[in-house]
Amino acid sequence: MAALTDPPPAAPPHQPRVPVQVVAIPGRCWRCNEVTWPIVGVFVPRDGGGRRFLEFPEVAERLAAAVSREQLHELRTGEIKHRRSKVRPEGYLSNGCVDCDAIQGNFPLHEDLITFRAEGGSINDLIVGTLFLPRRQRGARRAAEAS
Ligand SMILES: [Zn+2]
Repeated sequence: MAALTDPPPAAPPHQPRVPVQVVAIPGRCWRCNEVTWPIVGVFVPRDGGGRRFLEFPEVAERLAAAVSREQLHELRTGEIKHRRSKVRPEGYLSNGCVDCDAIQGNFPLHEDLITFRAEGGSINDLIVGTLFLPRRQRGARRAAEAS
């Protein structure tokens, strides 16, 4: 059994990783009223240069798999994990409060981002750090783009 002090397992060396810029929007937790910084999306590099913004639901699975709780805490947000909500009782991979772990729902965060941009805010101002995510499989990307 691994001790609690062991570092998290490293990614397999053959797995290519891409640096992504994490975009988070600060807000007060509905439950404990602490300020928390749930992730609303990431900028991923494009193959041909430049970058592309992906909203949180599109990358939640990769974030949850590749980013440790400690890294998320450094970004002032809680663990990304499966949580249930009133509107989605089946649950989904969600942001959590950095302090009390309460779900920070995708829908209100999406609305906050729309409001922020509608008021003239730039997503660049919401970049809180860079993380490394496994590159998405080519096949999966084609399937996603075709759908
Ligand atoms: Zn909270």
